[in-house]
Amino acid sequence: MKTEKSHKLFERAKNVIPGGVNSPVRAFRAVGGNPLFIKRAEGAYLIDEDDNKYIELINSWGPMILGHANTDIENAVCEAVKDSLSFGAPGEREVFMAELITTMIPSIEKVRMVSSGTEATMAAVRLARGYTNRAKIIKFEGCYHGHGDSFLIAAGSGAITLGVPDSPGVTQGVANDTLTAPFNNLKAVQDLAAANKGQIAAIIIEPVAGNMGLVVPETGFLQGLRTLCDNEGIVLIFDEVMTGFRLSKGGAQQILNVKPDITTLGKIIGGGMPVGAYGGKKEIMDFVSPAGPVYQAGTLSGNPVAMAAGLAMLNYLNTHPEVYTHLENITARICEGFEKNLKELGIKGTVNKIGSMFTLFFTDQKVKDFETAKTSDTALFGRYFRAMLEEGVYLAPSQYESLFISTAITEELAEKIVNANYKALKAVLQNA
Ligand SMILES: *Cc1c(COP(=O)(O)O)cnc(C)c1O
Repeated sequence: MKTEKSHKLFERAKNVIPGGVNSPVRAFRAVGGNPLFIKRAEGAYLIDEDDNKYIELINSWGPMILGHANTDIENAVCEAVKDSLSFGAPGEREVFMAELITTMIPSIEKVRMVSSGTEATMAAVRLARGYTNRAKIIKFEGCYHGHGDSFLIAAGSGAITLGVPDSPGVTQGVANDTLTAPFNNLKAVQDLAAANKGQIAAIIIEPVAGNMGLVVPETGFLQGLRTLCDNEGIVLIFDEVMTGFRLSKGGAQQILNVKPDITTLGKIIGGGMPVGAYGGKKEIMDFVSPAGPVYQAGTLSGNPVAMAAGLAMLNYLNTHPEVYTHLENITARICEGFEKNLKELGIKGTVNKIGSMFTLFFTDQKVKDFETAKTSDTALFGRYFRAMLEEGVYLAPSQYESLFISTAITEELAEKIVNANYKALKAVLQNA
């Protein structure tokens, strides 16, 4: 594989961009080697600067659910561009967008558009604090909610330990207000709520966790959080930045049948453009400025071009429910193939999947939270990642990420991916 041009660009980038990338995971540090610089993408494929072509399973971390360079979305964007890139004043597309979101996700009665998932979660937590007049939040180990200060908190040992900042620059004051619990451990959350009675503003969770690798909630866990929040007057926030419009047109909350008070959205909602949103119960959303006292604003929020892309995407998903069955079937096929390969080659692995999301963990344990996810052999994952690249398949460059299937992955391509997985696993065994 020739990677000269990518390599040269990376050298130049490192001089002027921290670590050479604009988002850390892209630097390939978790898997070794240098990042590939992508020139263009089409359907199921990424093409790098050296003209290598890969079947890809990241899809911009989720947004490209219809594959790259989708004609409907591109046409909508091109039309919108002709009427100027930004107004800084309201436009009709924002109304259409809010109407469509509230139709597709009924727990959202009112919604505010922002420009990224990070912005959505930060605003949602501020809103929950303003609404409840309480300071603390509970988050879950291994869940990612963007890079807001409150979310960059690791867990201490023991259920009722205060958080410690995960990143320099996050103050102890912020860390003190963020409590953490293990995913799928309702008892730990109940204990935290009891020890901090009347002080918890919000529980924020990825209802299906995608940022420690894919981890699915156990039966009763989310319902238990719902009940706890109802009893204690805590705002339940589902961070569906990743799962919204992916697991179903109504998100994870639709298939798992639990309604949050606030939902945060991003990724697919922009169709590849920088968009996020947060929305929920009218009564809570009316606390947002200018209707209410909790301030939140954005110069480019509801941007007409971004709205055009998002509307085209959501309209398509709303009117083509068969998309989800197709995605699920293809994903099941790939996961079954991977499991068969692992067994045949005698490699320890656990495949977690739901809908069009999945992760192959290199561990023989059942992965149900961050602790069990961390039993994975990450060195083995690094070798597997590079072997898959050699086979023409581009995976997320970390063990702790979910993979995403787009509608551009046909049965034929699924077969190719499974074969590549077999060859890569075999190569990894031989070089161990
Ligand atoms: C990606 C992601 C975010 C952050 O979104 P950005 O657009 O990267 O700021 C927040 N929460 C979840 C669950 C995510 O997957």
